[in-house]
Amino acid sequence: MGENEFDLVVLGGGTGGYVAAIRASQLGMKVAVVEKDKLGGTCLHRGCIPCKALLRSAEIHHTVRESAEFGVDVSTISINFLQMQERKQKIVDQLHKGVQYLMKKGDIKVFHGEGRIMGASIFSPQTGAVSVTRDDGESEIVVPKNLLIATGSRPRTLAGLEVDGVDVLTSDEALQLQSLPKSMIVVGGGVIGIEWASLLNDLGVDVQIVEFADRILPLEDVDISKEMTKLLKKRKIQVHTGAKVLPETIVKNDETVSIQAEKDGSVMTLEAEKILVSVGRVANVENIGLDNTEVRVEQNVIQINDYYQTAESHIYAIGDVIGGLQLAHVASHEGILAVEHMAGLAPRPMDTTNVPKVTYSRPEIASVGWTEQEAKEKGISVKTGIFPFQAIGKALIYGESDGFVKIVADEKTDDLLGVHMIGPHVSDLIAEGALAKVLDATPWEIAHTIHPHPSLAEIMGEAALAVDGLAIHA
Ligand SMILES: Cc1cc2nc3c(=O)[nH]c(=O)nc-3n(C[C@H](O)[C@H](O)[C@H](O)COP(=O)(O)OP(=O)(O)OC[C@H]3O[C@@H](n4cnc5c(N)ncnc54)[C@H](O)[C@@H]3O)c2cc1C
Repeated sequence: MGENEFDLVVLGGGTGGYVAAIRASQLGMKVAVVEKDKLGGTCLHRGCIPCKALLRSAEIHHTVRESAEFGVDVSTISINFLQMQERKQKIVDQLHKGVQYLMKKGDIKVFHGEGRIMGASIFSPQTGAVSVTRDDGESEIVVPKNLLIATGSRPRTLAGLEVDGVDVLTSDEALQLQSLPKSMIVVGGGVIGIEWASLLNDLGVDVQIVEFADRILPLEDVDISKEMTKLLKKRKIQVHTGAKVLPETIVKNDETVSIQAEKDGSVMTLEAEKILVSVGRVANVENIGLDNTEVRVEQNVIQINDYYQTAESHIYAIGDVIGGLQLAHVASHEGILAVEHMAGLAPRPMDTTNVPKVTYSRPEIASVGWTEQEAKEKGISVKTGIFPFQAIGKALIYGESDGFVKIVADEKTDDLLGVHMIGPHVSDLIAEGALAKVLDATPWEIAHTIHPHPSLAEIMGEAALAVDGLAIHA
């Protein structure tokens, strides 16, 4: 094999791409990653990690503000936002170094530059050779047996609402803020919008959310959306649902920006220091040479089969660029499955109903499986068990007892259909729900798993008992 020939070339070194490269290296493949920016991609540099680091600072601020209730008097509290940003960057840098080390450890060659898939040529009789153009304009060619496209996604914007990085931001720019605005209009009440609304509110920013759908977090169970709306309103966050922002009405004043939104046939004017646009993500399918391949793109995402193969069987695609659940843990799992399939193993296709999803707001929201509404739409007669954190001793000790856990099960077969949580640390608690889903556990089995006392995890046992009306502490 020549120097620039590889068993696998991964185009894009984000969470999906670099994890796939490591798995391929474990399987004995000669692997290269082509990355035009920084290894770690969106999740590490513009997503999960920096966002959660700031959320943690916001949570600490909230806790300290409430500390008198715990018998801890703090005389003055002030926010040092630059220190929060510095801490965030330190965490990102440390993890970035970790990914670089893992590439070296796995003997994975990293090409820094913009990759573009070439058509069949003397370099490569099949499509998939990749030209890599470095920042200095020089190019080289890498030739793979298999190619994995993992080019990720970028923020979606609204036509007419230009992101200028000053008055109008996406999460990319918001993460780079050097000072906190006094007020923010968050356009879009999905996961990213709600995380930012919660974060900013905990840091004293006046926040209003505008959501086009009739509820925030429209992919979650209706009861969860309702509870979160109630809790956000309690924190004085204004939540406008069923409201359509009218981009063309934006007016930039000296200190503020105003924009109109249409709700129930009437128009309201919203004003704040800045606008954060969080209306979803767009897959990076442009300018990567797909026109030189048979790879199919529909509704702007790459089409794949159960094993992430595109219409050209040696070209695979995973992560945000294939749409679906655009989550880091999904991208990395898809990367592992794709590489195992290339290696001739027989991986089990991913069941998306087993994927946990989390919103890292305060309180957190987490779910796995079908909502009650989805199960009913499929014609299943369901039974549900709901248990509040108010009745969990550890939640009271912890001082965060808003929220509940809801378990959805099949009334006839007892199958577990979904677990929906809102409350403290549910990003960790949902792992039990995900394991129960994978193992096809029934609520009875969850209830008879002994949970330590006092612990937040007790709520899983109680909610499972509640499915059959048998909760102990309700
Ligand atoms: C604000 C925010 C918060 C988030 N929080 C979470 C969370 O808490 N949990 C969670 O699971 N998910 C979260 N996500 C989603 C998560 O970041 C993505 O699902 C994940 O990063 C997708 O991984 P990926 O490998 O598919 O793509 P990416 O991480 O986007 O990586 C793609 C990489 O490809 C590179 N690339 C693109 N084109 C080329 C090219 N032509 N040549 C070379 N390189 C190229 C890019 O530079 C990038 O590094 C969040 C996202 C955002 C925006």
